[in-house]
Amino acid sequence: MFVLVQVQLLFQPEHGVRPNLKEVILKILVINSGSSSLKYQLFDQDSLEVVDKGLVEKIGLADSFLKRGIGDNERELKLPLPDHFAAIQAVLDNLLDPANGLISSLDDIAAIGHRVVHGGEYFSASAVINDEVIRCIEECIPLAPLHNPPALTGIHACSQLIPNTVQVAVFDTSFHQSMAPVSYLYPLPYELYSTLKLRRYGFHGTSHRYVSQRAAEFLGKPAADLKLITCHIGNGCSVAAVKGGKSVDTSMGLTPLEGMMMGTRCGSIDPAIINFLMRSLSISSDEVDNLMNKKSGLLGISGISNDLRDVIAAADDGNERSQLAMEMYALSAKRIIGQYFFELDGADAVVMTAGVGENSHELRGMIFDGLAPLGLKLDAELNLKRGGERYISTDDSPVKLLVIPTNEELMIVKDVISLL
Ligand code: ADP
Repeated sequence: MFVLVQVQLLFQPEHGVRPNLKEVILKILVINSGSSSLKYQLFDQDSLEVVDKGLVEKIGLADSFLKRGIGDNERELKLPLPDHFAAIQAVLDNLLDPANGLISSLDDIAAIGHRVVHGGEYFSASAVINDEVIRCIEECIPLAPLHNPPALTGIHACSQLIPNTVQVAVFDTSFHQSMAPVSYLYPLPYELYSTLKLRRYGFHGTSHRYVSQRAAEFLGKPAADLKLITCHIGNGCSVAAVKGGKSVDTSMGLTPLEGMMMGTRCGSIDPAIINFLMRSLSISSDEVDNLMNKKSGLLGISGISNDLRDVIAAADDGNERSQLAMEMYALSAKRIIGQYFFELDGADAVVMTAGVGENSHELRGMIFDGLAPLGLKLDAELNLKRGGERYISTDDSPVKLLVIPTNEELMIVKDVISLL
């Protein structure tokens, strides 16, 4: 439908020349703006094929660069990019470069999908961006001070650079808006929820939604009939309980700090530790926040790295703290899976996704170790295999164990198309 609208616009007299219809191949741009980085993917609207992707890193630093292209076409361009506006400008310039043959005009971009981390209670689904949507995203800044501002900068930059293109916001939190108060409230004075909107929101929603939909298709059953536990285990880690296609509980909370132990984040700890650290070390609450977000998790325990590959290598070399970090990491996932298994009254499948969930047979092995009596039977051989969507459980496992590679960008593009 959008193709027709664009073609009609081009036929209007002010556009002059009658276009060659074959040249109007519309694309959808997906943008994920981080604090100092920006990732993008360009999709063909009809085939949903990724025709280009790239990453801008170190925005604001002297050695910023744009890495773009697929496979053999991948190349890195060192560019001084002082801010997100410059980064998006550089991305668009590259897309327009005739040498790349990706788009001949910015009009070829039918729409832009932005990943936005926090939509608060405003959004239970993705939304076409207008002034009201922007106002709501701004209101959620106190809930995601590191994440929502760069997303807004990306949105504003696109509004300036491609002013007539539809933009859609896809929120990390929206999938979890289906949680009931019994799951999303904290046992704090209720007024804190009414006045401050202090509650569990959950994150990685686009990933949990994508893998739960794919898992239903993989299992050949309607999502409405399934109870799934989806585990997004990457640098950030979260687990969700998904019943009938809806999130009923998730491990991240008001912020992405709660829940599983992560690469640099501690996950759930005794909340009294915060006060204890402030008093014992004479540090501010911001410093404790920094310690819990950036210096804890795999990095904090191993003292080696937040990257599980480095931690495993060190553990293999006999580094005891790295071995301990791995064991704590696996146990923290196992605890939450167990919690949701009870909360859902059992599960049809446990789904592993993201960098660690998809790639680390070691961690998967540790997480599912000893769970066969509960009906979660890992197949040691299948667990070692690599590939796309796959079973890692034995044929007779009552609870299926799956690896489903996540694809948040594809989910964003599908949302954009459905909103168009
Ligand atoms: P992010 O949360 O930043 O999107 P990813 O989902 O890309 O993170 O996951 C990144 C993490 O995945 C890395 O830090 C690394 O620990 C882990 N990882 C990736 N490949 C492997 C592998 N083959 N074995 C173990 N860990 C891996």
